[in-house]
Amino acid sequence: MQLEKLAKSHKEFKEKYLSEYATRFQELAVKGQSPKVLFISCSDSRVIPNLITHTNPGDLFIDRNVGNLVPPFQPGSECTAVSASIEYAVAHLHVEDIIVCGHSFCGACKALYEESDPNDTKTEHLTRWLEYAKESKLSALAMVGREDKDALLRATERFNVIAQLKNLLSYPVVQDALEEGKLFIQGWYYHIESGDLEYFDPIEHRFKALDEIDIKTD
Ligand SMILES: [Zn+2]
Repeated sequence: MQLEKLAKSHKEFKEKYLSEYATRFQELAVKGQSPKVLFISCSDSRVIPNLITHTNPGDLFIDRNVGNLVPPFQPGSECTAVSASIEYAVAHLHVEDIIVCGHSFCGACKALYEESDPNDTKTEHLTRWLEYAKESKLSALAMVGREDKDALLRATERFNVIAQLKNLLSYPVVQDALEEGKLFIQGWYYHIESGDLEYFDPIEHRFKALDEIDIKTD
């Protein structure tokens, strides 16, 4: 059990981090949050949105789930958690960007190629959830084939980001905000092994290094 270890870490957080950000936390508590970005990423413990974007509390509205998946808009669906985050972020927080961030060595994408026991009902939710990533597997297989397994997995992870961007477009709140020019959606891919980020260029239909973006300086 990790309780003691976490209690010790929390004490360190209060002593070191909280004192540095005390004013910011107080402002956020009184004024409320107004994040500009909805960041959808994997629950993977190695992908930490605030760390890899070097952002602070209040900057990102984050939805993390297994495989950074976005179920398509479907009235009456039982699967509402990610959809609620999207609708809240766009309709109430008025975020300016939605970023779907996939990553290398994603266990969810790897699991698409592993046999699952149809009689095993103990992980039924996981099996059903991963159905939302099946299109990515088919796209990667069609492009890369099965021979080079690493290449196939890296392609699946990237196709998975592109598929979720498409699903985002099925949400009426997203469609409205896009038409009004108030929202941008982006696909990112994070390399766990190097810390590098790529973004999806929909015109060239490929991922490019985020480092190549021209950054305006004041
Ligand atoms: Zn993952």
